[in-house]
Amino acid sequence: MRDEMALERESTELLRTLIRNGCVNTGEAASGNEARSVDALEAFFAGSGLSCERYTSRPGRMSLITRIEGTDPKAPTLLLMGHTDVVPVNMAGWQRDPFAAELVDGIVWGRGAVDMLNLTATMAVATRRLKQSGWKPRGTLIYLAVADEEAGGFLGAGHLVEHEADAVKCDYVITESGGVPIPTKSGHKLKVTVGEKGGNWRKLIVHGTPGHGSRPFRTDNALVTAAKIVQRIAEYRPKARILDAWRGYIEALELEPGLTDALTDPARVYETVRDWDNLTLAREAHACTHTTFSPNIAHGGTKVNVIPDRVEIDVDIRSLPGVENHEVEAMLKEAMGNLADRVTIDTPPDRKRGGSVSPTDTPLMAAISRIATRMMPDASVVPAITTGGTDAKFFRWKGIPSYGFGLHSLRIPYTEYPIMFHGHNERVDTESLKLSAMMWEALCRDFLG
Ligand SMILES: [Zn+2]
Repeated sequence: MRDEMALERESTELLRTLIRNGCVNTGEAASGNEARSVDALEAFFAGSGLSCERYTSRPGRMSLITRIEGTDPKAPTLLLMGHTDVVPVNMAGWQRDPFAAELVDGIVWGRGAVDMLNLTATMAVATRRLKQSGWKPRGTLIYLAVADEEAGGFLGAGHLVEHEADAVKCDYVITESGGVPIPTKSGHKLKVTVGEKGGNWRKLIVHGTPGHGSRPFRTDNALVTAAKIVQRIAEYRPKARILDAWRGYIEALELEPGLTDALTDPARVYETVRDWDNLTLAREAHACTHTTFSPNIAHGGTKVNVIPDRVEIDVDIRSLPGVENHEVEAMLKEAMGNLADRVTIDTPPDRKRGGSVSPTDTPLMAAISRIATRMMPDASVVPAITTGGTDAKFFRWKGIPSYGFGLHSLRIPYTEYPIMFHGHNERVDTESLKLSAMMWEALCRDFLG
């Protein structure tokens, strides 16, 4: 018991330090400054016998690795990966200072509390504990704290996988997200993220002909064309696809049978979510069964009396695992219809890779299931895909099974979590921190021997 309290205290204090470091990633290469949290983690590991290596992709954009070498070269290597950066905040929406890491009634408030400094901190706590206990595993444990996840990970995990392959060589990866208990008729279900959608963002450059704003009749106004294109993209309906992970997840929720059938039938899922009053699940169900197109930024025009000849539209496209780049292009053209020839499509070079999914019949998945049920006896794990992007993709693209997990208490209802990710009033209870730290430690002992 005293040990568990110490675990909770260590996790809470390290999380608060990481939140206060405020490694805000705006998407610009000069933001983030994750070196601050690398310093903090190195200080945390100091004196434990663990030695740290630092990897810098750009000035200030630093990642950290520490490892406990296994004794058996044939045993698996497990990499626990957490990101240290966070997304920006809108201060006006917060009840508390998002970077003060206030601890109020067993709850830590701050940006990154659930995405994912909680896991980055508890993975570090478990790693240090294991080292301090004199643990000599058969397999190797790697702890990796990465920069830049919130802007796609290309200056963090992506950089390491491409340029420091030996340092991150492993057989399995665990990172965010999952492990929030979802109530069902037969007990709680804990999602293990086994796959994610592809982030196939595109910039559409809509062309027109410039002219005098005082004579708009029969002109070729790029903004008017762009408005029609935005409308068409918003109304576009690509075909539904049902992934195994989606089917398994929906079945595990034990909804009423007719609803389960409808949500796993490609011919009926769209009509079902369109009319569903549970908006949170409707959005999730839609996104997990369709490649989605969201026109989110538009820039155009230069002066109020000039008819614009150029408008740019940024479209956030998320492809289902298995959908290829050429299919994304074809869908986008289909959505724009006869206006497609007025548009140049700009594809960022890092946005051509699609979604990714890992097999679920692995020894690591079995170990996660075993440990989760041991720690939370009324719970069972269920594989699921996430609609957002994570650093797991870099490893899945190399064929390495990669999952997202954690372990949360029942204190904050599961319906709050989707709101807190990138939202206001992000927070986590210290009981959840303790559970995650205990789970990582137990999982490493079980899986690495
Ligand atoms: Zn995250």
